[in-house]
Amino acid sequence: AKVAGKNGYRFYSRAMEQAVSRRVRMEQDLRGAWERGELSLVYQPIYNVADKRLAGAEALLRWQHPVHGPVAPSVFIDVAEQSGLIEVIGPEVVRAACRDAMRWRQRGGAANALFVSINVSARQLRSGDFRDQMLAALGESGLPPELIHMELTETTVLNDEEQARKILGHLRDSGIKVWLDDFGTGFSGLSHLRRVPVDGVKIDRSFIADVMRDPDDLALTSAIIAMAHSLGMTVIAEGVEKEGQFDLLRSRNCDLAQGYWLGYPLGLDEFMALID
Ligand code: C2E
Ligand code: CA
Ligand code: CA
Ligand code: CA
Repeated sequence: AKVAGKNGYRFYSRAMEQAVSRRVRMEQDLRGAWERGELSLVYQPIYNVADKRLAGAEALLRWQHPVHGPVAPSVFIDVAEQSGLIEVIGPEVVRAACRDAMRWRQRGGAANALFVSINVSARQLRSGDFRDQMLAALGESGLPPELIHMELTETTVLNDEEQARKILGHLRDSGIKVWLDDFGTGFSGLSHLRRVPVDGVKIDRSFIADVMRDPDDLALTSAIIAMAHSLGMTVIAEGVEKEGQFDLLRSRNCDLAQGYWLGYPLGLDEFMALID
C-alpha cells in the first residue's frame, strides 16, 4: 500500500473515499442479514421506580457481522435508515419482538403484564403501510395492543407533525402506546408535548448522567417529570448507572427506569430468567 502523501487535501479526500466505500460495503453486507440470522434482538429490562418490579423491556437490535463481529447499532442503523433497508428490517423487528413477548407471557402471572418497547425510526413511520404492518404483526402474535410500546424520537414526530400525528393517532386508537425517546435533547420544548399524541416521554440519558452533580440537570429532570405528569403522561429515565441516580429519580416520582445499574440488555432466555 502507498504511504499517504504530504498533501493534506489528497489525504483527506482519500479518507473520505474510504469512508464512503465502507458505507457502501456495509450496506451490501446488511442486505439479507436478517434472513441469514446475523441480526437479533436483545431485551433491556425496564423497572417500576416505586417498587423496583419488572415492568417490561426495550428491544434492541444487534448485528453480528460474519467477518467483523458485532457492529455498533448507532452505525448500522444509520446505514439501514439512509439506504432504506430499515423498511425491510423494521417489520421483522416488530414481528420478532411480538413473538418473543408472547413467549414470556406464556409463563403467566406477572409476565402477563410486561410490555415490549420497540424503536421506530422516522423513515419507518413514514413508509406507506407502517400502520398496517404494525397491526398485522399484532394480530399475528395475539399480543394485547397495550403491551406494545413504540419509541420515536422528538425529531421524528415533530419534523412532520401533521402526518406523524395522524399515523400516531391511528396506532393509539388501536391501543398501542407511544413514547418520545431521547426526550430533552431536541429542545423542541415541553410546550410541544401538548400537541403530539404520546403516552409518555423517555428522558435522555445525557440528563441522567449528570443528575447527581449538576443542579441544572436535576432541575430539568424534575421539571420534565412534573410537566409530563401534569399532562397525564408517564416518564421513563434511561441510562441509570448508579444507585444515587435511581434514588433521586424516586424522590422526583419518576415512573419507570432502565440502565446498566438495573440491568444490561439480555438475550431472550436470559431476560426470561429475570421474570419471577
Ligand atoms: P436508544 O433507543 O436510546 O437505546 C438506548 C441505548 O442505550 C442502547 O444502545 C442501550 O444499550 C444503551 N444503554 C442502556 N442502558 C445504558 C446505561 O446505563 N448507560 C449507557 N451509557 N447506555 C445505556 P444500543 O443498543 O447501542 O442502541 C443504540 C441506538 O440504536 C438506540 O438508542 C436506538 O436509537 C437504535 N436502535 C436500536 N435497536 C433499534 C431497532 O430495532 N430499530 C431502530 N429503528 N433503532 C434501533
Ligand atoms: Ca429507545
Ligand atoms: Ca433513548
Ligand atoms: Ca450537564
